[in-house]
Amino acid sequence: MKLRDVAIGANASMYYRLDFKKIKGVFYPKTERDVILALQFANENDYEVTPKGGGSGLSGACTGGNQERIMLSSLQMKELLTISKDQGYVDVQPGATPDEINELLEPIAMKLWVAPSSRDIATVGGILSTDGGGNDTWVNGTMRDNTYRVRMVLSDGTPITVDQNGVKSENKHVAERLNDMKFSIHDVASSHGTLGFITELRLDIRPIEDEETVGGIVEYENYQEMGIAIAEMIERKSPIRYGETIVMAHDDVRGDLNPPLHILEVPKPYEEELNEIVNLTKLEPTELENMKEVRIKLPKRNPKEGIQMALFEGYGLHDDSLRRMQHSISEIDSLLMDNGLTPFAKYGHAPSKWYLGNNTAAYGIIMHSREIRPSEKTGEQIYEVVMQIVNKCQELGITPKPEHKWPFSDETKKKRLQDLRDVIGAGFNSFILDPECNEVLQTMV
Ligand SMILES: Cc1cc2nc3c(=O)[nH]c(=O)nc-3n(C[C@H](O)[C@H](O)[C@H](O)COP(=O)(O)OP(=O)(O)OC[C@H]3O[C@@H](n4cnc5c(N)ncnc54)[C@H](O)[C@@H]3O)c2cc1C
Repeated sequence: MKLRDVAIGANASMYYRLDFKKIKGVFYPKTERDVILALQFANENDYEVTPKGGGSGLSGACTGGNQERIMLSSLQMKELLTISKDQGYVDVQPGATPDEINELLEPIAMKLWVAPSSRDIATVGGILSTDGGGNDTWVNGTMRDNTYRVRMVLSDGTPITVDQNGVKSENKHVAERLNDMKFSIHDVASSHGTLGFITELRLDIRPIEDEETVGGIVEYENYQEMGIAIAEMIERKSPIRYGETIVMAHDDVRGDLNPPLHILEVPKPYEEELNEIVNLTKLEPTELENMKEVRIKLPKRNPKEGIQMALFEGYGLHDDSLRRMQHSISEIDSLLMDNGLTPFAKYGHAPSKWYLGNNTAAYGIIMHSREIRPSEKTGEQIYEVVMQIVNKCQELGITPKPEHKWPFSDETKKKRLQDLRDVIGAGFNSFILDPECNEVLQTMV
């Protein structure tokens, strides 16, 4: 494998201009012992460590920035160590993907229910580190909701185990200090590789069950109406099994679509109540599958002129920003257009769930957005617009969804990670928490 392939991985982010000379080694441990040896090498040479799974993370964190560093890959750690059907868990090494785990669970009709679209390439260690989930987090939660226990190695080579009862380690001093700080799986979730290298996870598995569902589309007059309907589904805890929106689509790819529209699937007995909230036009199963395909393919289509890019993928609209969706979207679009970018497509999971930096759950729409990039803009100028969007989101009460683009603006999470690193050491992925982080990322667009 070439160094370029390791460092970039499945990187679909806009951060891919790396200085490869800064990568001083690539390690493929198979066991915890191998991980400790790799860390010893990094410590002796004063190199940073960048944990790497499938490299599909979109925030730039999996690149490791521009520090002299080693890459510590989990791709040779894919073993399924224990399956307990009765107690509903698997113990697994961090480099396995959800698809790989589920293939092994198929004969016992059980499943890991965390399903990001990247489930064929993203590893469970990476998914917990970004707290990922699929379009069904509303039903199945994010990765942290499905993780019972984590084993990880800290920068000085100390292994620790974290579960609902706290931290255990042979290093009693570290365990005591982390327990005093109430260190938990919430801290590991969405830590973007800044705390240590995950070597093992205990994950929830549940039976595969048949359920009769009905599905269809809802067309809305405007964004406001859509936002209010989603807020009501959240309030009523509607059992939406599949909920995807097409918020807008540029004329070049719009075809017969009439956004804003919502593709919904619910258990058959819930259909009547759903119709109290929205006007569902039912579709035959094949038509429904076709609509899901349209949604999946939307971001993959191209404008007739120019190229599309995703400046900032995960807009988390919730509470006020959801109920004022018309205003929220107009403000974002004005900002884009003022900077010469043409809105191209907006779509996303709704209702959906994610966590804020203080570990409270947020519910709303995770809206992805794509724009047509003006050819004359440099990477630095594009990044400037990203920064403006971050500020605008803060003003509008929209939270960037961490696993997608922006772990770095959540001051609560950042402060917590810094406090923890004061106790456990700071050798992992430090650029993320560095005040210079934006300057670093800017050079990588
Ligand atoms: C086409 C596509 C579709 C996607 N769809 C979704 C989606 O539906 N939902 C979603 O949530 N995300 C989605 N993503 C984003 C991405 O897949 C997730 O962020 C994923 O969870 C990252 O997993 P990974 O193994 O690729 O990790 P990487 O990208 O390699 O790393 C991500 C972060 O985790 C850290 N890390 C990795 N392994 C370890 C470890 N063993 N120990 C400690 N830290 C570690 C890295 O340092 C980095 O900070 C998508 C990405 C792509 C390209």
